Amino acid sequence: MPQTTTQPHPLAKYADRIDASADYTARQLAALLELSLSSVHMMAGYGWLPGSRMRTPARGGRKYTWTGQQLLRLAGRRIKVQYDHERYAPSTLYRVGCRCPECTAAHNTESRQRRRALAEEKFPEPQRTRLVELVGEGTPVEDAAQEVGVSVGYVFGRATWDAAFADALDDAGWALCVLGESSPACGTAGAYRGNDSKRSPRPPCRGTGCREYKRESSRQTHST
Ligand SMILES: [Zn+2]
Ligand SMILES: [Zn+2]
Repeated sequence: MPQTTTQPHPLAKYADRIDASADYTARQLAALLELSLSSVHMMAGYGWLPGSRMRTPARGGRKYTWTGQQLLRLAGRRIKVQYDHERYAPSTLYRVGCRCPECTAAHNTESRQRRRALAEEKFPEPQRTRLVELVGEGTPVEDAAQEVGVSVGYVFGRATWDAAFADALDDAGWALCVLGESSPACGTAGAYRGNDSKRSPRPPCRGTGCREYKRESSRQTHST
């Protein structure tokens, strides 16, 4: 027998973000709830979002809209849920309280996809390509990031999970090596640090060779 409980409405936690005077489409509701559009459609299908008005947009199809007032009313209600894994999608059950491994995993996957979709919007492919090009021409990553309009944190953040981008950036980054990648001093502590002697000053190197050195040496420090 599936377990039945009453739970706060999934909207409850987001009530303070609902604008009472606004209208919400399913897409806007998904953004508000940090859920995928299909999860919102499922919730509507379960009857958790009654009171929508259906509009038929000019280009056809159906479009549900809710007023902010309705959503605020719904947010205050409790809903009765069965943790019925055959009937409900796991990411939806997670939203209403199920923390079984299956629902937790589905929730984690969905949040990761959402974060990545957002990242994709803020730092789309053409900008990534342009950034890699600039770096390949010897533009420091900070400057290249500024030129394509993202923060440098975004660039290195993306490189932590997008292996193809990380590789392209590493490839291009050899162009930043102050001593040149064939120099035996490239990829050493001295090259990474640079030197400010008056006779032969050299800026700290942030080319791929020296960043690899740095990555490796901080890995060693952390593991000892
Ligand atoms: Zn579950
Ligand atoms: Zn270097």
